[in-house]
Amino acid sequence: MFIGHWAPALAVASRRRTPGLGTLFIAAQLVDWAFFALLLTGAEKMRFTPGVSVMNPMDLYHMPYTHSLLGAALFAAGFAVLISLATRDRTAGIIAGAVVLSHWLLDLLVHVPDLTIAGSPPKIGLGLWNHPAVEMPLELGITFGALWLYVRARRPSPVRIAVLAAILAALQGFNWFGPVDPVVTAGTSVLAFIAYGAATVAAWWMGKSAQGASRLV
Ligand SMILES: [Zn+2]
Repeated sequence: MFIGHWAPALAVASRRRTPGLGTLFIAAQLVDWAFFALLLTGAEKMRFTPGVSVMNPMDLYHMPYTHSLLGAALFAAGFAVLISLATRDRTAGIIAGAVVLSHWLLDLLVHVPDLTIAGSPPKIGLGLWNHPAVEMPLELGITFGALWLYVRARRPSPVRIAVLAAILAALQGFNWFGPVDPVVTAGTSVLAFIAYGAATVAAWWMGKSAQGASRLV
């Protein structure tokens, strides 16, 4: 799951009393931002092993902090508190925290068993990455379906919708069909930060043009 993680952000932002769309985009990928940061420090680990799943060569063999249910829940709780304080709106904080937690649940659908409940085995994952005929339409469907919900409710600028949609489609296309690095380097994390950052900036920019756009962070 890559761009599909932003579906919950778009879906909840089509409703009132949410934090801004940029904040929700960060929430949706918060544990992946953290994973790629911890990858730089060596605290979490992955390697490229083509074939580890049909669709994804990333062998995510050590990520106890960011991709355990417990770890993701702690990230969600921390982000919820932060957003509650920043917005002085507890509902907004809870929504932001729920979007953080949605990441682990969507990963559970697609990952081959590399997730944990509390950091140690058994490893779990339902493995839709081995079933592209299911995973690809699912990921595109939830993402662009949620974007449609947001557009219908908030009527943002058509140009900004097109920019966000193009960035999401390009990122997913690169993820599915682009070249595979042979080894993990600092560049692996930098590329991830650029991808998440580009989508987040585009979402924030589109959200700024929306009707009834959130005044919250
Ligand atoms: Zn993830």
